[in-house]
Amino acid sequence: MSYNTYVRFGTYGEPSLLPKALVESITWVADGWTGYTHQWEKKWANDFGKWFMASTHDEKEQRKARSIGYRSFVATTIGTEKAVSCPASKEMDYKSNCAKCGLCSGLLGKGTKDVKILQH
Ligand code: SF4
Repeated sequence: MSYNTYVRFGTYGEPSLLPKALVESITWVADGWTGYTHQWEKKWANDFGKWFMASTHDEKEQRKARSIGYRSFVATTIGTEKAVSCPASKEMDYKSNCAKCGLCSGLLGKGTKDVKILQH
């Protein structure tokens, strides 16, 4: 079902509750994926930084997430965090979408930088 398609982990529920082997096999065959978890600080969720972004809200959380193997998707109120702006955001004039961009795909997906979006 995932072969050659874009997969959005977490559309329904918390994606870090999936078996790691399932996530790994889906990402092997998918054309691309995105995923986010609020559970990144939990010890049992640490390995999911390979595939998912840590949902964070400021630089402090961003640094902590990085220290345990996560890139961040920062929903920020100030926008000064060191991160690229999401191209699907209002502040970037909705230039792209997740299926085309795919940047929010952890350490094994696209890109190496953190991503930020202004909270509205
Ligand atoms: S950076 Fe790309 S993948 Fe991440 S939320 Fe924005 S459009 Fe989607």
